[in-house]
Amino acid sequence: MLQINELSFWEKKAFFEDIDFLIIGAGIVGMSTALFLRKKYKNAKICILERGYLPTGASTKNAGFTCFGSPTELFDDLKTIDEQLVWDTFANRYYGLQALFELVDKTKINYDACKSWDLIAHDTNNSIDTSFINYINEKAKTITGVNQIYFEDKNVSEQFGFKHIQTAYCNELEGAIDTGKLIQELFKTVVQNNIDVRFGIEAQAMETHANHVNIKTKYGLITAVNCIIATNGFAKQWIKDDIKPARAQVLVTNAIKNLKVKGTFHFDKGFYYFRNIGNRILLGGGRNLNFDEETTVKFGTTSLVQDKLQHMLKYIILPQQDFSISHSWSGIMGVGKTKKPIIKQLNPRTAIGVRLGGMGVALGSQVGKTLASYF
Ligand SMILES: Cc1cc2nc3c(=O)[nH]c(=O)nc-3n(C[C@H](O)[C@H](O)[C@H](O)COP(=O)(O)OP(=O)(O)OC[C@H]3O[C@@H](n4cnc5c(N)ncnc54)[C@H](O)[C@@H]3O)c2cc1C
Repeated sequence: MLQINELSFWEKKAFFEDIDFLIIGAGIVGMSTALFLRKKYKNAKICILERGYLPTGASTKNAGFTCFGSPTELFDDLKTIDEQLVWDTFANRYYGLQALFELVDKTKINYDACKSWDLIAHDTNNSIDTSFINYINEKAKTITGVNQIYFEDKNVSEQFGFKHIQTAYCNELEGAIDTGKLIQELFKTVVQNNIDVRFGIEAQAMETHANHVNIKTKYGLITAVNCIIATNGFAKQWIKDDIKPARAQVLVTNAIKNLKVKGTFHFDKGFYYFRNIGNRILLGGGRNLNFDEETTVKFGTTSLVQDKLQHMLKYIILPQQDFSISHSWSGIMGVGKTKKPIIKQLNPRTAIGVRLGGMGVALGSQVGKTLASYF
């Protein structure tokens, strides 16, 4: 492969010279950052470097839930995290979704306001009382402006055909999108906004100078006036902060005749999640079965997790139906001890936005908006 300094005058000028903003990573955060920068700087040269031939982290691999707060998660968080911080996190996710819909048309990403249900199994004592539901409804109203988004739904098993579920708490405002369409729409919008995406180039190191930043790649140095890191689960090489990769595994069934399940569902405090995609089921989770093994930047699936997912399908989600598995895959998230993303300027020329956990569909565009506001 040619080195950048061996390229033609035209190639260097068009693709690698006079870059005002170089963004590392073409996931939801990288592309949103580029688009919010474009709103601010009409004539700037903005370029995204992506090491994969597609974005290769979490944004193309996720479950597509537009989730921002399920009752059992809020219940658990309020036991250990400061109340204000819990509701700030809720608000960031909720407003993050509005920031996403500023960038892409809801209808083009198959947004479905299908609601979510937080399922409570028979053999657990995770159920929560009415006074807590009243409290979260009041708090959520101050952020969403909508009355009573949460309610208990005791008919969930009857409606969807589940087994071993005693009750559920519904969130009226959560929904789902088509993950592939979201990335395609973001990419199309990026291209329409005259933002360049260079696939297949990995940033290896960065050196900041007074007036520019040099990014080392295996094809040579790329120079830009400013650089933004949006590499989420792969960010360890850039900062010393608390961030770890977290692999998440998913499977999708074949098309199922007369599928009753419709909507998005959280189970076992969010360790498992599933939804319908047309008449298939997508089910993910199970990192808690072996946290050590799943703390990795390596893609792949394990029989421990996949078997557990299939077991849940057979005994809880689709107890009456035959099914087979048509797809399984994994994605890499960035997590830490807290649920708050790391969003900060490293110096006047560089910034970073990473550690989005399992909520990047909701949070990603807001993180991009904040990153763009630093410049
Ligand atoms: C299986 C799964 C299910 C999920 N489900 C949901 C869900 O339903 N709802 C929700 O809100 N969130 C969900 N998430 C989380 C969500 O997908 C992420 O929080 C979000 O996509 C993070 O976006 P990002 O742009 O920060 O990171 P990423 O999408 O990971 O993008 C980072 C990019 O940086 C690139 N990169 C890394 N290092 C370099 C380098 N050195 N040089 C160049 N490029 C580099 C990577 O290839 C990657 O494309 C899920 C995640 C997974 C894995």
